[in-house]
Amino acid sequence: MNSIPNSWSTLRVELTASRGDGIALTELAVLQISTDRESLLFLHSKGKGLFATRNIHKGETIFIEKPVVSSQFLWNALYRYKACDHCLRSLETAEENAQRLLGKSCRVLPHPEQCSIRKDLHQHCPHCQVAYCSAECRQSAFEQYHQVLCLGPSREDPKHPLNKLQDAWRNIHYPPETSSIMLLARMVATVKQVCASVCCSWYVSAPPFCPTCLGAPLLTDVVALFLQGQLELLRQLFTAALYEEHLSRWFTPEGFQSLFALVGTNGQGIGTSSLSQWVHACDALELPPHEREQLDAFIDQLYKDIEKETGEFLNCEGSGLYVLQSCCNHSCIPNAETSFPDNNFLLHLIALEEIKPGEEICISYLDCCQRERSRHSRHKILREHYLFTCSCPKCLAQADDANLTSEEEEELEGEGETDDAELEDEMTDV
Ligand SMILES: [Zn+2]
Ligand SMILES: [Zn+2]
Ligand SMILES: [Zn+2]
Repeated sequence: MNSIPNSWSTLRVELTASRGDGIALTELAVLQISTDRESLLFLHSKGKGLFATRNIHKGETIFIEKPVVSSQFLWNALYRYKACDHCLRSLETAEENAQRLLGKSCRVLPHPEQCSIRKDLHQHCPHCQVAYCSAECRQSAFEQYHQVLCLGPSREDPKHPLNKLQDAWRNIHYPPETSSIMLLARMVATVKQVCASVCCSWYVSAPPFCPTCLGAPLLTDVVALFLQGQLELLRQLFTAALYEEHLSRWFTPEGFQSLFALVGTNGQGIGTSSLSQWVHACDALELPPHEREQLDAFIDQLYKDIEKETGEFLNCEGSGLYVLQSCCNHSCIPNAETSFPDNNFLLHLIALEEIKPGEEICISYLDCCQRERSRHSRHKILREHYLFTCSCPKCLAQADDANLTSEEEEELEGEGETDDAELEDEMTDV
């Protein structure tokens, strides 16, 4: 036995789980094995990926997924983008939505029957008056996290620890928003509530999100901001509002940073709009040609007027953590994209082209303008915000012009890089 030298060898293992719905989840892990100690040391995960196991057609919905946790952005809510506190469904009718965005209450929308908002189903928490789109959402929120987070009569009390936390967050994180401290609060609240009844150690010890991000260098813009001491302030407020004994490691400076990195790199933007749902429904109407022309012209003008008044902020916006979607890797030429056609937090992954069995399903973390930029610029954005270097087919094809960045482009980037708009996620489009 002792004749075997004490040596380590490295093994790359691909763990694949086929799901039976046309996709497989693959995790590439690098293991280090000691040959004399019969021990297996899990070194690190190289990341996950989603692969097709059957032919997927262009335009097909590959899957629909509900987030583990989600939350509306705080400024978005403060500016009266009324949304269900649980599923982010817009609570305004399409007409109210248009009127608010126009700053005018006189504009009347044709075809009001195409508006999907059902005010008769809306509900409130009887204790704090937070609004929900349905009894189901109120119930789900109550069962998952709202018992811990319900402010009761203190909803407007600025001294309440949770209000202090939200206020501090808003003062640090101005629009365009990319994340919310309440996402972290709901994660803690979920564990607090669910632990009372169900064992959820998996959630506590290993949140089902990219393990490579935990403890990764904190390079995203949001986090960079907090390195100036603001992260510590938030951690103290977070602890005062939500401390939980058996989750103590989430409240340490390192644990709190890891939670931030997790949400920063895995959070998916969510956007909902009753107006855009009404427009989609109108597009699908069968109308005589001249009525169709009139309606199209009306809608075009409406969007032009709204843009003048409100700019780019059309949607109820928030973010969520999705287990399956977060396994989807980036490509600068993606074959799938996320969207929210149900006007709530249900994420649809849609194929942008034919995908063959064995092919990886990729989305893009960059918006269309960013995707048109040089390889150098794309890599810079991806490194700063998502902590990786892209080696998609487009990047490999452009590998030769890698270092030939013109000074012009450098300058361009210098101007653009502090702009938060770069962070803005096209995936919030609905
Ligand atoms: Zn809802
Ligand atoms: Zn409540
Ligand atoms: Zn690429």
